[in-house]
Amino acid sequence: MKKINDFIWETHGIHAGTEQDHVKHGIDRLEDIVDKAIEAKHPSITFIIHSPRLTSFRYLAEMDTNVKFIRGNESYLNYPRRIQNLREKYGDRINIKYGVELEWMGDDLGLQWSRSKIFQAEDADFVIGSVHFAPEGLPYDGTKEEANELLKMRGSLEAYWNGYFNEMIQMIECFGDMIQIVGHIDLPKLNVDMPEALLNFENSSHPLANKFRTLLEIIADRNLSLDVNMAGKFKGAGVYPIQNILRRANELQIPVCLGTDTHHVRYYGLNFKESLEYIHEAGYQNYVSYSKLIPEKRTIFDDHALKVKYTVLNKGIEMLNQRLTSKQRRIIPDFSFGGSYSEFVDIYKNATGMGDYNAVRIRKSDKSITISNETPVPSNEKVKGLFSEHLDKPGVISSLFNTLASEGINVETARLKSNNDGTAVAFLTLESENGNIKNAIEFINGTDVGLFNSLTYRDDAILPNYYREGVYLLEMDGVELKLALGKKVILTRHDNAPGVLLVLLSALASKNVNIIDFRLGKRNKIGYSALAVEGDNNIINNLLNKLGPHYYEANLIEFHSM
Ligand SMILES: [Zn+2]
Ligand SMILES: [Zn+2]
Repeated sequence: MKKINDFIWETHGIHAGTEQDHVKHGIDRLEDIVDKAIEAKHPSITFIIHSPRLTSFRYLAEMDTNVKFIRGNESYLNYPRRIQNLREKYGDRINIKYGVELEWMGDDLGLQWSRSKIFQAEDADFVIGSVHFAPEGLPYDGTKEEANELLKMRGSLEAYWNGYFNEMIQMIECFGDMIQIVGHIDLPKLNVDMPEALLNFENSSHPLANKFRTLLEIIADRNLSLDVNMAGKFKGAGVYPIQNILRRANELQIPVCLGTDTHHVRYYGLNFKESLEYIHEAGYQNYVSYSKLIPEKRTIFDDHALKVKYTVLNKGIEMLNQRLTSKQRRIIPDFSFGGSYSEFVDIYKNATGMGDYNAVRIRKSDKSITISNETPVPSNEKVKGLFSEHLDKPGVISSLFNTLASEGINVETARLKSNNDGTAVAFLTLESENGNIKNAIEFINGTDVGLFNSLTYRDDAILPNYYREGVYLLEMDGVELKLALGKKVILTRHDNAPGVLLVLLSALASKNVNIIDFRLGKRNKIGYSALAVEGDNNIINNLLNKLGPHYYEANLIEFHSM
């Protein structure tokens, strides 16, 4: 039996406070809890904040203050800045994630209100949709007396829960792409009992059971995750949700994310391990966390080798998603696993095997990414190509391509290696030897003196081994690339014609973006390029938008997951 981890990558994590507001909710001094997490050697910490509510949706405690205010509005608006400040302050010491708990308050004003609040969550890592209030204006998670009042209005336990599930379904439909996660799905159990029809929802023919089964299926069909929330346990109502709901969620392949929903510094880290044991009991071996709205897979086990494999998997998912529109990103991808990753075939129900091929392939519609942490083995075949030794600085590669293009020579494959001493080597195979290669070399030796130490064409060269240890993009859409990943990667699909790549390289050179590594591939008339680069995101994205109609795809990929 593998050991269960004692750290979790939280989603519904620590509630950031409402600062100067009159009814306290969450933690105001965020530094205190970050310090605590660093002290515990945790790699990451996650904050969450409630979107502000309309004044007609208030808890008794808030009404009792008799102060007119929009609860938490100020602190909500300041929240992204507060997180940014924290990230600047703590730098690399800890990874700080943040999200929003978006309040459901009906499909009229409430929906527009929430929609207006989503702009503050634009750079957030995730958004959870939660129902805390009934349309009657009473909370499900307030006091017992508030719950009893609502129970009286609705007439029965079944009607009470039925209303809540209706609101959940309505919320999911109306919020649509605004949320990634459904919050505490059985929240009302905090204050009222769960009726038999719900406890036994798998078998019951009661309309409430049917309603609930439908809700879970909607969550599955919309690729949302389920919040497994330890606040319920903390408050004595039991973890949200109960085990049989979680088991059904697992059957439906609904991903779960975990959170303690902490509101006080002293409870930080409480129930981390218990949350993993809880989902394991329901059959889960992994869960998700989020970076920039993209789900990351996390193992429940304290197993270093397995964690490394998940890291590779997450990098692949991030790469593929960043090639897609935000709508396409929501679709759960298909997987293939081979070699040391084969154990994932059992974990992901629809995954296929790739035998001994030691890699992960992630597929969505007609796009795929194949990735591995195995260093590629160099082949010993003889090749024709151009060897270059040159200065390792922006613009040099562009200059080489410029000269080749001027002679009508198209580069077929390229590989690059920095010697980390200010020089670099490159090897290019050329589409066709049209006789002008000598001219190109002479031209470069004549004009770019000082940039190139040596430039030679060979027709029986052994492919040099430029591979070092790292995570490799092996293929893009099944086209071999074998790029060692850096912090930032550019991926393109373009017309494979002379001069097209020069546009990209020249664009990067114009803004001093350095190319660390570079691979080309092609299939039919389409060229593929993968470049590891260093430079400013905004500048690079701006350039990538201007490459022209011969580029079918040009994306800057950044890695946020750890
Ligand atoms: Zn909540
Ligand atoms: Zn919460």
